[in-house]
Amino acid sequence: MIIMGPPGAGKGTQAGRVAERFGIPAISTGDIFRSNIKNGTDLGRQVEAILSSGGYVPDQMTNEIVRDRLAWADAAPGFLLDGYPRTTGQVDFLDKVLAASGHPLDGVIVLTVDEDAVVARLHKRAETEGRADDTEEVIRERQAIYRAETAPLIAIYAEHGILVEVDGMGTVDEVTERLVKALDADRP
Ligand code: ADP
Repeated sequence: MIIMGPPGAGKGTQAGRVAERFGIPAISTGDIFRSNIKNGTDLGRQVEAILSSGGYVPDQMTNEIVRDRLAWADAAPGFLLDGYPRTTGQVDFLDKVLAASGHPLDGVIVLTVDEDAVVARLHKRAETEGRADDTEEVIRERQAIYRAETAPLIAIYAEHGILVEVDGMGTVDEVTERLVKALDADRP
């Protein structure tokens, strides 16, 4: 499965909870990049400036990381991707990887939230977590890039008939319950 939504929609939080319910790993490309930066790896050094500007890491690099991660044993029963795919190039790549593995996507969750609310959440997170990309300017840049590059993917997955749209406003628990219900109802 995939979880999508604008920066600040609560993808990371909900991905962890939903994945746990389904007994599968939540895989966040953002987390993978941040841990590489923290550990000073080659990859981390290559992507650090990109993340702090709010731009997207080039598809080729991101795709390779995802392909490697999906090959781990824990992802064999299934997985929930958080923050990937974000571009049409990534959608095409994931399609190929999944076709080769014989496991089609079961669902694409879209968390819907209003932009003012998410910007406010990100400001709050800036105070508590101190993420380098949670500054006013970079938050706006990330929202704009999401709108231009990633929001159009929703229409692509809607055409595949696997979209599960869920209201992301409310408490963390409320949203998790909505998600689990929507996914259960959606299962064949
Ligand atoms: P958010 O959704 O709040 O922006 P993420 O943790 O998902 O946070 O992503 C943080 C940053 O990591 C992005 O702004 C981007 O620079 C990089 N990133 C994460 N996933 C991808 C991806 N699929 N493609 C390109 N860049 C990515």
